Amino acid sequence: MTTPRPRRSPRTQHEAQVLELLRVQGSASRAQIAAETGLSRATVSAIAANLRRSGLVVRSDVTVTGTGVGRTPERLALNPGSRVIVGVEFSHTRVTVVVSDVTHRVLGSKVREHGGDEPWERRLATAVRFIDALVVNPASLIAVGMGVPGAISGRTAVVARVERHLAERYGVPVRVENNARLAGLAEFSWGAGRDMPDLVYLRLSEGVGGLLIVDDEPRLGASGSAGEFGHVCIDPNGPLCRCANRGCLEAYVGLGTLLPLVGAASVGDLVDALDRADPRAQAVINAAGARIGLVLANTCRILDVSSVVLGGPLAQAGDHLVRAVRQAILRHLHHDGAERLRLRTAELGDLDGALGGVALVLRDRTIAIGRRSTSTTAPREKAPTA
Ligand SMILES: [Zn+2]
Repeated sequence: MTTPRPRRSPRTQHEAQVLELLRVQGSASRAQIAAETGLSRATVSAIAANLRRSGLVVRSDVTVTGTGVGRTPERLALNPGSRVIVGVEFSHTRVTVVVSDVTHRVLGSKVREHGGDEPWERRLATAVRFIDALVVNPASLIAVGMGVPGAISGRTAVVARVERHLAERYGVPVRVENNARLAGLAEFSWGAGRDMPDLVYLRLSEGVGGLLIVDDEPRLGASGSAGEFGHVCIDPNGPLCRCANRGCLEAYVGLGTLLPLVGAASVGDLVDALDRADPRAQAVINAAGARIGLVLANTCRILDVSSVVLGGPLAQAGDHLVRAVRQAILRHLHHDGAERLRLRTAELGDLDGALGGVALVLRDRTIAIGRRSTSTTAPREKAPTA
């Protein structure tokens, strides 16, 4: 998700710094740009004037809510022009596509649920149909960010085929990442983790995955598989996991294990049972929370991270789950570490993985996002994120 930057002359380097900041943040005031880039206010003003003259940057119409008095400082954003980014998530049971402009405005989205045994050809056909419907002018497309389940380091032939098909059909770069990590990237960019520079994101679904953010940067590890919380061993003598090890967190708290324990057909059923204080459902969620909390406490202990976001379908259990997880973390962490802990549930809902695809492209400095065409892609939906 990070790439080395090419060398540039100081002025273009400063301009690039400002453009990169706007690309990742969507919009910012001159004061914020100065604070975050370390450039002087005068330099930022000169650069901003220059970028606005060249049409690369415009005044943002994003309204910032806050308690400040007096005039709201003018915010700057990249010129959205007509250029768009597509985010696609192929989960185990769903195809999701979102289209966003470069100012982080979501222009449209489509979702289709399918059975777990849906062939990849049909998943791909669904994604293509959605992209064709949402992107009116294919020439406006900058890139596709795509999330898929499983480890990316050992990318399967089928994922490579899907990636190649999209790249050839639309003639744009396609970036691929694990879908749980992308969901975390979206929460970090626009959701529950947006004000957290250090963050552990956990996605609790059929599988359990996640993302580590340290010092404002996603950490992928040596082989690109950091954040595989689902396969952290919590009991070497525990049940067999689909990864062939024993006692992985996922073997205990994956939905495929949890729901049958409660006799629930869906997470909705589980939440209903919890809301009516069903003792069996409470015991199951408390045990799951204790195990999740143990892994999180160990992670927080090692990395000194104090912010946690719980996402994925199981996070719909809300306070029922958060309470149990918090209790376990408090039990395992030193007092002051636990005091600082910020534990939240995710905010972006089912679009999280696909939105993460958009964030992946926005953060990839090797993908140029300058204007290429003058035709329009009409906004279809009000943005859930800004
Ligand atoms: Zn495992």
